[in-house]
Amino acid sequence: MQDNLLKLITLQDLDNKIRTCRQNAEDGPNKIKAVREKLTALEAEKAVLDAKLAANAAGRQELEGVIEELTLRKTTNQGRQKKTRSNNEYRAIMKEADTIAASLAAKEDELLVFMAEAEKLQALLPPLVSDIDEETALFLEKEADINKTLEESAREEAQAQAKRSVLVPTISAPMMSRYNTIAQNRDGQALSPVVQGMCRVCRLSIPPQLYNELQKNDKLLTCPNCARILYWMHHPYFSDFCTEPNPQAQPATADKKERKPRVAESKVRKGAKAKGPKRTLETMEDEDSDSQLSDDDRKVAHV
Ligand SMILES: [Zn+2]
Repeated sequence: MQDNLLKLITLQDLDNKIRTCRQNAEDGPNKIKAVREKLTALEAEKAVLDAKLAANAAGRQELEGVIEELTLRKTTNQGRQKKTRSNNEYRAIMKEADTIAASLAAKEDELLVFMAEAEKLQALLPPLVSDIDEETALFLEKEADINKTLEESAREEAQAQAKRSVLVPTISAPMMSRYNTIAQNRDGQALSPVVQGMCRVCRLSIPPQLYNELQKNDKLLTCPNCARILYWMHHPYFSDFCTEPNPQAQPATADKKERKPRVAESKVRKGAKAKGPKRTLETMEDEDSDSQLSDDDRKVAHV
């Protein structure tokens, strides 16, 4: 019984590790996106600046073309002024000369505005490019760290998978089926440690009788509330395998409110007294740290 439960605890541990690694892999792109946020904003700012500079250059080019055309018309007009002999024609030519001069002056003023704007925009460019270079270097450093973590996580997942594929065939089919069914219905968490009379995952206290039975560790017991397979976390046999349950696993019932255990540890001890030598929680914890398992026992337990 202990061996079977120990295998399930180990399996749960491996499955939790695999799930965490997969979650890391899933979160990787978002983490990279988050650390790139500032660089992305700076690049967007530069794109806007580049667009303004391009629009300014196009506007200037168009104005320069108009000014060139007006200057040509002005020269032509001046030539006609010298050649004309009719007063009426001269007046018309002079009127046109005034119109050309006014248009030319207006377009030259417009060009000055464009040139002043270009100067301001150009001044913004070097510090922005410098910021982008700095942020790019920072981002590449952070991205490399994230990728390194992801690679480590992928390696850990592969190791956990390899251990799992060795462990699973050693577990009986009914036990495996039970584990899988509970895991599927309970956020992947089929097992729950019991600490101080409380199911660690659903956080509800378990009945005193069940707690006493659990400490005997001679049969497979489940939580009456969340139906997960229970094991007593402070049993010396399991002390090396007591990992934290999957934090995403939620209580199974609507009653998710955290409760204090109904059963005080001292009461449980009192109930267990008749069945064995007096052992307090403190002495049991001492036993955990100073485990009575031999090294050979531990090796067997880890397989
Ligand atoms: Zn429970």
